[in-house]
Amino acid sequence: MDKVVFMDRDGTINVEKNYLYRPEELTFIPGAEAAIKRLNDSGYKVVVVTNQAGVARGYYSEDDVRKLHGFMQEELKKSGAHIDRFFYCPHHPVHGKGKYLCSCNCRKPDIGMFKQAEEIFDIDITNSWMIGDNKGDIEAGIRYGVTTILVGTGYGKKIMEEKNVRYDYYKNNLADAVDFILMRNGDRCEK
Ligand SMILES: [Mg+2]
Ligand SMILES: [Zn+2]
Repeated sequence: MDKVVFMDRDGTINVEKNYLYRPEELTFIPGAEAAIKRLNDSGYKVVVVTNQAGVARGYYSEDDVRKLHGFMQEELKKSGAHIDRFFYCPHHPVHGKGKYLCSCNCRKPDIGMFKQAEEIFDIDITNSWMIGDNKGDIEAGIRYGVTTILVGTGYGKKIMEEKNVRYDYYKNNLADAVDFILMRNGDRCEK
């Protein structure tokens, strides 16, 4: 079965910038690329699940999202890292335009993107994780049944201080979260 680390994108892997879609504005959070590589080397599948309401709002297109993901993948490759699969939700229940205006089941905190991942991976839920910087990430992870880690980058520190979200663990950033996962499962890759 596949052990999967689901992770949010903006504020978790890359610096949160409102409605990021231009490749030249992508900035990785320090240590993120190496952390993803440690997961790759340790046999975890790395799956990005990201709400992209900017598509719904008409700020950028699905094609822009896919191009950015392709660019991220190329940048990660320089560190020997890769994302196994990207899933994004382009909808919004209130601010969406045209076909993107809908109450979908993929927008976190719903778990539709996790269910889409089940079509590709044989997910070992009890040994899988969700890492994110926002309430919806944690709620989705809890609903899906994986162990959740709130990271202190992006909105995470503020969310932690507000103390109104229940998460399993809090770590300063993606790198610390990944170290924790690998140490806890005793499957740290020594290569
Ligand atoms: Mg985020
Ligand atoms: Zn959706």
